[in-house]
Amino acid sequence: MKAKFLYSICVVALLSVTNSLAQINLGDKISGAVGNGLNSLMFSDADAAKLASEGIKKLDSAHVVAGPKDGYTLRLNRVFAKHSTENGLKLNYKVYITKEINAFACADGSVRVFSGLMDIMDDNQLLAVIGHEIGHVANHDSRDAMKAAYRNAALADAVGSVSTKVASMTDGQIGQIAQAMLQSKYSRKQETEADTFSYDFMKKNGYDVNAVESAFTILSSLSEGQSSDILSQMMSSHPDSKARAEAAKKRAESDGLYKPYKQKAFSNKATSTKVTTPKKATPKKKK
Ligand SMILES: [Zn+2]
Repeated sequence: MKAKFLYSICVVALLSVTNSLAQINLGDKISGAVGNGLNSLMFSDADAAKLASEGIKKLDSAHVVAGPKDGYTLRLNRVFAKHSTENGLKLNYKVYITKEINAFACADGSVRVFSGLMDIMDDNQLLAVIGHEIGHVANHDSRDAMKAAYRNAALADAVGSVSTKVASMTDGQIGQIAQAMLQSKYSRKQETEADTFSYDFMKKNGYDVNAVESAFTILSSLSEGQSSDILSQMMSSHPDSKARAEAAKKRAESDGLYKPYKQKAFSNKATSTKVTTPKKATPKKKK
């Protein structure tokens, strides 16, 4: 399977959003005045959550979201049922139906998992990847990314509270925030810390910590020789999968927990009680 992988942010999709945003420069060009305004700007977790909740509405509307009875949704809900709250943050989970391999978590607690990721990862590996994403929120990386997006959307240069600004954002500004949520890149330090969070998350909850190494290894092997759009965003925002797999392995070794991980069986079908793949018993007649 061709895929490109990104960890935190996803690129693909959203042609419509992307197009509507094409005229907006997402770069870091900030005028001195705006930059100065930001320095004195108080930007709280609550502000970031407010902004992210607007952005995620936009992203949800631009993707095909799996329904409540969809097999992907059922599996995600089952695997993450224990994790509806992490670090005091209430999380909500949805699956985007796409071949793209990606997942991201937002400052408002929204976690979005691409079905392409669920097609290649077993439950423990999903926990490891999503644990990493949750780590970005818990470590306030997401808040900082929202703050930067807020600034870049030229929302920070005028007078007024963040909540007032958020309430009066234009559609273009909301789109810009949404795009930034998909594309935000974190520093190497932030990535390393999120990896550590993921490992600790697995350990604390009694999951197999070796799934962290395994998930990175899958990503690393997918990225080799791939140029497909499916993975590009995740890989570009999460480079060095091989080294990160190695780091996870070292941690497991020093904890005396290392054991080569073997991927477990998993199913994204709604009727997953049986291992066999259901065949069409009766031909559907359409007419
Ligand atoms: Zn990350």
